[in-house]
Amino acid sequence: MHIGIDLDNTVLDATTPHLHYYNLASGLDLTADDVDNFFLYKMYGWNQQERDAVYYQYGRDIHWQSAPLPDAVSVLQQLYREHRLSIITARPLQFRDVTLEWLAHHDIAYHDIAFIEDKLQQCAESMVEVLIDDGPHYAVQFVNARKPVILMEQPYNRSVPSHDLLFRATNWTDVQKHLTAIATL
Ligand SMILES: [Mg+2]
Repeated sequence: MHIGIDLDNTVLDATTPHLHYYNLASGLDLTADDVDNFFLYKMYGWNQQERDAVYYQYGRDIHWQSAPLPDAVSVLQQLYREHRLSIITARPLQFRDVTLEWLAHHDIAYHDIAFIEDKLQQCAESMVEVLIDDGPHYAVQFVNARKPVILMEQPYNRSVPSHDLLFRATNWTDVQKHLTAIATL
């Protein structure tokens, strides 16, 4: 199978370093328990421009300091032997270098990587058969286009409606099980 894989809050914990630096910039003290929005900056009352200023200042540190989620590295190493793995991240190209360094540093195996916000189009063009992601908007887009998606559970995606092509995962062992099921669809 050709598998598309998101990075932030799918392969790695992006919430912890984002909260750290967003707290630093704002003087607030938000914790993981406060997170209820995919767009974390909205919890700080920032508009897109205010968010960009903070993100571009601290983005390199945020991305470098993110820790892989439990079992993500070992499962990806196993999947790499049997499948084609394309990392598909909406991170801006400015953070390409730190992203590649981080992937190498953590021994994450993959075949190619794309930095793009329109993941549905990217997957259609490169014939990706299933996407693993935490983004609620991506999950809805994919199932509506009749493409299977494995949704990595996060507080902000629990309200995504059930669908026969939506597979919820709380960890990478779940991801592995869902991929086995999806291969037989
Ligand atoms: Mg993500």
